[in-house]
Amino acid sequence: MKISKIFLNDFRNFPELDLNLSETINIFLGRNAQGKTNILESINFASLGTARISKDTELVRWNQPAALIRLNFSKADVSHDLAIEIPTDRRRRRILLDGNAVKLRDFIGKLNAVMFSPEDLFMFRNSPITRRKFLNIILAQASPIYFSELTTYNRLIEQRNNLLKKIREKLASPNNLELWNEQLADAAAKITARRVKAVENLNVLANEMQQEISAQSENLSLVYEIHNLNEVDAPQNFGVEYLQNWYHEIFKSRNFTDIKRGSTSFGPHLDDLQFFINGKELRLYGSQGQLRTTALALKLSEIKMLKNSAGEYPILLLDDVMSELDAERRKKLLDFLLNQKIQTLITATEKAYFPEKISGKIFNIEKGALKFEE
Ligand code: ATP
Ligand code: MG
Repeated sequence: MKISKIFLNDFRNFPELDLNLSETINIFLGRNAQGKTNILESINFASLGTARISKDTELVRWNQPAALIRLNFSKADVSHDLAIEIPTDRRRRRILLDGNAVKLRDFIGKLNAVMFSPEDLFMFRNSPITRRKFLNIILAQASPIYFSELTTYNRLIEQRNNLLKKIREKLASPNNLELWNEQLADAAAKITARRVKAVENLNVLANEMQQEISAQSENLSLVYEIHNLNEVDAPQNFGVEYLQNWYHEIFKSRNFTDIKRGSTSFGPHLDDLQFFINGKELRLYGSQGQLRTTALALKLSEIKMLKNSAGEYPILLLDDVMSELDAERRKKLLDFLLNQKIQTLITATEKAYFPEKISGKIFNIEKGALKFEE
């Protein structure tokens, strides 16, 4: 997957921007608040169809009626022309692919991009929700079935929780729980089996990346942590059938506890993911550079997985990744991207983060415009 051209009109702080990208590395240089991240965001938006943190309308340049993102990209060597118009009034956003109007859900998955941003670092120290979300996204990208399995599981949890509250208020009989326990155990088993497999994969891929960037000095391992496991016997294996029975027994045994608390106290909706560098927990002992390296190693594993399922690498968007990495790690990262021929857009405030001679292009961005190109 490669993007050859970006054209922006009234997107964020860009009245107009017209760029021809390199197929390898594209560096966006500039002082703070000039628009570097905004350029990456335009591609991320085109890939996801939603803004990462903000509302669609915030993407439109202030006091303008609409923003336009236009990209020329190739997928499996076929060229496409994509145009997305984002209006601020009540008109709906329009997506044109090769001149034809398409619905968002038909467009998702056509343009694949993966973005690394500084917020990704919070994942390690935030609540388990962010880490579950990370796993869920990786799994959903690799297999759409996972997404529907997860939706089913979440719906069952909600229904079981409603029932638990009713039982607590004596509005329903505890006998009704059995049906939910059984269905929930089926759904939970599928989710856990897939997650454990994904973590096994990540243990290989992400560790390879961590070792590569850290010049073999760091080993990364990930552990899928079953919440409240200390209260039950650990599963003997992670096959779906075995897990179904295992979950079923546990749900049954926790009926009383769950009725008292009015919610389900066990299951993949509470599980977590732990990270260890050379055997030490990253959350507690990791340095800034190690956190960044691991976040990066995870992103690079994600794009490797996407390559395995889609046949080619997605576009890689690296926002502000160079600061806090030492010179050797920066070099290892760039070498990897060049060797693998991954088209990358990378922002930085200093040219000094990059080697004198680098294959690709450097765009200097100032006040919402391209100042000059090197
Ligand atoms: P840093 O190095 O600090 O990360 P950056 O070059 O990545 O800076 P961006 O986040 O791309 O900066 O651009 C930020 C600027 O874009 C903001 O300071 C804001 O003034 C401007 N901006 C954001 N949204 C809009 C909008 N809808 N219309 C006009 N300008 C906007
Ligand atoms: Mg930025």
